[in-house]
Amino acid sequence: MTTTVALFTGDLRLHDNPVLRSALNGADQVVPLFVLDSGVREAGFDAPNRLAFLADCLADLDASLCERGGRLVVRSGDVTEEVCRVAEESDAGSVHVAAGAGGYPRRREERLRRALEQDGLSLDVHETVVTAVEPGAVTPAGKDHFAVFTPYFRQWERVAQRDVLAAPRTVKVPRGIRSDALPSREAAGQVSPGLCRGGESEGRRLMRRWESSGMQDYAERHDDLPGDATSRLSPHLHFGCLSAVELVQRARKQGGEGADAFVRQLAWRDFHHQVLAARPHASQADYRTKGDRWRGDPDEIAAWREGRTGYPVIDAAMRQLSHEGWMHNRARLLAASFLTKTLYVDWRVGARHFLDLLVDGDVANNQLNWQWVAGTGTDTRPNRVLNPLAQAKRFDPQGDYVRRWVPELADVEGAAVHRPWRLPAEVRDRLDYPEPVVDLDDGLARFRAARGLDQ
Ligand SMILES: Cc1cc2nc3c(=O)[nH]c(=O)nc-3n(C[C@H](O)[C@H](O)[C@H](O)COP(=O)(O)OP(=O)(O)OC[C@H]3O[C@@H](n4cnc5c(N)ncnc54)[C@H](O)[C@@H]3O)c2cc1C
Repeated sequence: MTTTVALFTGDLRLHDNPVLRSALNGADQVVPLFVLDSGVREAGFDAPNRLAFLADCLADLDASLCERGGRLVVRSGDVTEEVCRVAEESDAGSVHVAAGAGGYPRRREERLRRALEQDGLSLDVHETVVTAVEPGAVTPAGKDHFAVFTPYFRQWERVAQRDVLAAPRTVKVPRGIRSDALPSREAAGQVSPGLCRGGESEGRRLMRRWESSGMQDYAERHDDLPGDATSRLSPHLHFGCLSAVELVQRARKQGGEGADAFVRQLAWRDFHHQVLAARPHASQADYRTKGDRWRGDPDEIAAWREGRTGYPVIDAAMRQLSHEGWMHNRARLLAASFLTKTLYVDWRVGARHFLDLLVDGDVANNQLNWQWVAGTGTDTRPNRVLNPLAQAKRFDPQGDYVRRWVPELADVEGAAVHRPWRLPAEVRDRLDYPEPVVDLDDGLARFRAARGLDQ
């Protein structure tokens, strides 16, 4: 009997999984393995919201493997040591794993390769498991990655994709391989009260619902804050419950403006992954520095984190984040612009707070979107500032998004909710809601001066 190990990382699914498929094709039996990696914990990346979602994913993966005659093996500890141990216990000849884009997955891959080779085993690394197009597959002439999205997208669209793989019918797992208990959602710590459910089954249900009602209108409605009309598939993509390759192909098959716009967003995800793969330091260092000397008033930062800036649309965004562990993309843009440009606070402060709460929190997408908004990243207009009042008028014209998330303002009708300081004094006095933390014109002038835009 030959055996392989399929090491699950950001690909917690049975459908369209080249790692599992190749492991199954390469041997008589396979150990489907997930390691609760101490390195992830030590890097401070084990936020409760993501741990809870992960627990759902692993339970669902185990159940789906059991239906096919197998099971999931879970271990805790150093990922390299645990993989080598399981490979030895099962007498495996090779280990299969998905390629990752960031610094940590790359180092993990290198350590694993070295350790396995010492034991005479091979490591097979699979591309297009996490992204639809692998980092480095398209590049501008003479460069290792694209720094601007539009030309990237033009080439990305033309890449021939591999076929989508069916889920295996049976999975034969060797007997006697010890597994730790599956982690529980309850053990994750304090999670957001409105946190969504994880797992491949749930991801596929949401995907089908999105395709039958939602995707068609995505082009017109993706910025509609109260309408909440985006796919909400990001956590499932982050954990790999859904495959980006499969989503792109299904959307293309469906066709139409909405599907095209959705595919374009999936390309943004790949774009950030290829930037990070080429520039792993961009997770912490400015991609294109502007020589910023950021401010850092602790009271202002606390007001932003807690959703008490006095700008209702920003506060609604931040309250949605803490309540759901997720935020609408337009809200993310507004909250990040407010912190980095209006308050002129270092993007790393905001990115850290998002990573502590976001269920889809992801080094490539989070850090590079933060850099994009801060103007230290790939935005071709790095000094644009989003005015929260103008944005609120456009994307939450009746104020419904604000009333949903800021209960102190729930009784203020219509668009007036965006400017509580203009309400009649007797109404204003009854509201337990703060004055604006900064004057928008002052914030703008400070930012422009700091970036040397007025000279
Ligand atoms: C400051 C900031 C931080 C962000 N942090 C993250 C993060 O940690 N993880 C994350 O997945 N996304 C992040 N995004 C991108 C985007 O906001 C979310 O992917 C999106 O809101 C998720 O909702 P959805 O699944 O309904 O997206 P949809 O609008 O339905 O889009 C479909 C998918 O496309 C991808 N996508 C959409 N927009 C972007 C984008 N701008 N960049 C990269 N991928 C995109 C996502 O995988 C998303 O699930 C961030 C954006 C900003 C401005």
